[in-house]
Amino acid sequence: MPRSTLHRAKRIVVKVGTGTLTDRTGRFDRENCARLAAELAEISKGRRVVLVSSGAVALGAERLGLARSKGRPWDIPTKQAAAAAGQPHLMAAWGDALRRHGKVTAQVLLTAEDLASRKRFLNARRTFEKLLDAGAVPVVNENDTVAVEEIKVGDNDTLAGLVAGCVEANLVVMLTDVEGLYDRNPAEPGARLVRDVPRVTAEIERIAGGAGSDRSVGGMATKVRAARRLAAQGVTTALLSGRRPRALAALLAGEQLGTVFAPGAHHLSSRKGWLAAAAKSRGVIVVDAGARRAVVEQGRSLLPSGVRSVQGQFRVGDPVDIAAETGRPFARGLAGYGAEEIRRIAGLKTSEIERVLGYKYLDEIVHRNDLVVLDVGRE
Ligand code: GLU
Repeated sequence: MPRSTLHRAKRIVVKVGTGTLTDRTGRFDRENCARLAAELAEISKGRRVVLVSSGAVALGAERLGLARSKGRPWDIPTKQAAAAAGQPHLMAAWGDALRRHGKVTAQVLLTAEDLASRKRFLNARRTFEKLLDAGAVPVVNENDTVAVEEIKVGDNDTLAGLVAGCVEANLVVMLTDVEGLYDRNPAEPGARLVRDVPRVTAEIERIAGGAGSDRSVGGMATKVRAARRLAAQGVTTALLSGRRPRALAALLAGEQLGTVFAPGAHHLSSRKGWLAAAAKSRGVIVVDAGARRAVVEQGRSLLPSGVRSVQGQFRVGDPVDIAAETGRPFARGLAGYGAEEIRRIAGLKTSEIERVLGYKYLDEIVHRNDLVVLDVGRE
């Protein structure tokens, strides 16, 4: 969405970073939380707003009296304990602040594993819908206590992107401790704010690589990566200062502030969005160059003739990656056959499926309706 049409965004995910909710000493900043709550309540008139809020670790650390030693990050159990101690206070802070503006809040704690499962993803979506129908503001955070490495989203920028897919948001606003994306470290003289990013290029990712603050988990890199993924799903992302009064309303009014990442040309359906961003792949189907072209350039289904090999064990309907012999996966889809079956029919014509297997479900290994070409980035 161009800036001038941002007021039309009816479903918005607002991500608030730790740097926005804590002061320089790392203490919870109630004043800023109260001001943001007023602004969130205001923009939620006629819109559906989901909040993704960090700050549990910072609040918990404050409560538990954990000292912050510069340069030495806390270990994982310490962070998890801090998150567990801080999360109820984080919710209480948002709950109190939003209640003053007539808004009810609801806590939603998620992990990557929850959203990777189609069933749980759909359940989460139904819960969000009910809450939004009732006029509530869902407040999302990662379920840090149980989120061990393998199932962790890891940072709330990425989590906000996944939540956007779940609630079919058209806009994600990330509130942070800088004004937006700068063309170099904002502390350096002459650094300029990048206003509009039509496409996340390698250059944009490079300039985002360095910047960050010691109070945020992701810094700029995870924000820009999330914005790139969101663009591939047809979603606009904006970076804004979480300290500038009325920044949210001004952005929606089309004013020139912050950085706006334009969405890509295609809007992915919610199901394909899930497949591209949240689903966990159970295996890899390795294909030849012809099949890659047919899938990527012509939007065709994947047929057995193009399959070279299969990695992993998966069943019909499981999410699988599709990769060329050299290189990373370029597409993801729902398997039309199980891994063992595909191994037996790899390289064959569709007319031979029945002879070899003794039955045939479909002509396709992965049907085009169940397939999404990935934005093969530069991670
Ligand atoms: N879940 C963490 C917290 O609430 C924050 C993660 C992040 O900021 O990216 O403290």
